[in-house]
Amino acid sequence: MSDRSPYDIAKETLKLLSTRKLVPTPDNFQALYHEVAGIRHVPHFPEDQLRGLGRALPAQTPAQQRLMTQFETAITQRSWVGLQAALVGLATQPMVATPAHLPDKPVVTEEVMAELREQIARLVENTLPVVGVDDPRLQQQAEQLLAYARLPNSEASTLKLMLGNLSFRMSFAAEDQLAIKSTLLELLHLVFTNIGELTIEDRWLKGQIDALVTATTPPLTLRRLDEVQARLKDVIFKQTEAKARTLEAQDEMKQMLAAFIERLSQMTEHSSSYQGTIEACARKLEQASSLADITPVLQEAIQATRSMSVDTLHMRDELREMRERTQQADAALHKMQEELDRVSSQARHDPLTGVLNRKGMDESIEREIARARRQETPLCVSLLDIDNFKRLNDTLGHDTGDAALVHLADVARRSIRPQDSLARYGGEEFLVVLPDTTLEAAMEVMKRLQRELTTQYFMRDNEKVLITFSAGVAQVGVDEESAEAVKRADQAMYLAKRSGKNRVVSG
Ligand code: GH3
Ligand code: MG
Ligand code: MG
Repeated sequence: MSDRSPYDIAKETLKLLSTRKLVPTPDNFQALYHEVAGIRHVPHFPEDQLRGLGRALPAQTPAQQRLMTQFETAITQRSWVGLQAALVGLATQPMVATPAHLPDKPVVTEEVMAELREQIARLVENTLPVVGVDDPRLQQQAEQLLAYARLPNSEASTLKLMLGNLSFRMSFAAEDQLAIKSTLLELLHLVFTNIGELTIEDRWLKGQIDALVTATTPPLTLRRLDEVQARLKDVIFKQTEAKARTLEAQDEMKQMLAAFIERLSQMTEHSSSYQGTIEACARKLEQASSLADITPVLQEAIQATRSMSVDTLHMRDELREMRERTQQADAALHKMQEELDRVSSQARHDPLTGVLNRKGMDESIEREIARARRQETPLCVSLLDIDNFKRLNDTLGHDTGDAALVHLADVARRSIRPQDSLARYGGEEFLVVLPDTTLEAAMEVMKRLQRELTTQYFMRDNEKVLITFSAGVAQVGVDEESAEAVKRADQAMYLAKRSGKNRVVSG
């Protein structure tokens, strides 16, 4: 405490105000007065202003009201910390106050309302085909709402009520559709799994079915459904072919078996009548007393034996002919198997690796190009060719070469995303189609596949065999044909070969 008189202190304070060039407000004077007098300065607390501020703050929701009570208490307690907590709380509250509660309520113009009504109508129109197909009541409600929303003088409150009812009904329909979708998918999965268990003897068919089982594992996308459809077409195509030809072969076999049985029974008939004649001759011979009696009996016996031997010869010829025909039928069955393999190569998947074949890829790439153009997203293609594959075939054998192709296809399929496609484009060439992928990203995908092949080795007789490839990558141009883009990827692949192999080059 100072021992100076209040008068001296006031004088000193005024001097200080002027030397510090402070505005002579009561607050500044008070603060300096305390400083000169050596009294602890109690800063002024702007209680009235803060209460005024509080009245302008939102207090509609229970959370806001609780924070406002906290704000009031902080003012009463002169607690800046409390005020800060309440204000921070209010600032982080969601803004749920309706325009009506705000002092400057924004005006909703008739134009905005009309636009809103139209948007609601379109939303209903667009979602109805997805959820409302099986519910006539929902269809009816939706049509009523559409008609009402498009009336020029429709009431917002009525619209709100109708929309509420519709969305309630729609929520059940959407749940139903979801359940239907997942049940159908499970069913499909079950059917494929069962067919797969039945198809043990046909490796190609088994591979296709396995792929179908994988393709129907959720989550399902439109792209995967396309793949399921293409594979199913292949399977049906091959099965129909196989069934028709097997039935034909079966028919032929049946006819031959029937003829064989008939001949057999004829033979038995002939031999039993021969036996009867000989027995009769034997009896006559026993009773014969002269040569004259014996001669006709012997002649009869010789005649019967001759005719029997002619019959037997005849039968032998027929049986020989039948054996030849059986052998021919057997050869036809073999041919049919070969034919089926040829036919299956006209399907969309490669019988050896199970990935798409050229035909399958041509279809897939066109779909992807259309999609990329529609969605304005980048699409890349990459052509890869195994390095020194001829040497691998020559040193380890053709079968090992085949197994190496299967290995590469498996690693590649696992390395790419589900929406990417992989095809065997030629002997040891594969094409990868990468939707929604930039050129840089596609280069990275191919380099990653190169790395995968250095960790997932191809094993042959417990020996690791490293497979490398050279690849060219091209982004499909806006107006470019797929064949043109593949050609650019091919040229880039040859550049990769020429610059030392085992690399990825962009075209
Ligand atoms: P480069 O690195 O220049 O590509 O050499 P390369 O030996 O891989 O290429 P080249 O075109 O000289 O030989 C390809 C070989 O691939 C020749 C062919 O016998 C073999 N090939 C093609 N299709 C198959 C197949 O289905 N199975 C097996 N095992 N080999 C195949
Ligand atoms: Mg090649
Ligand atoms: Mg090669």
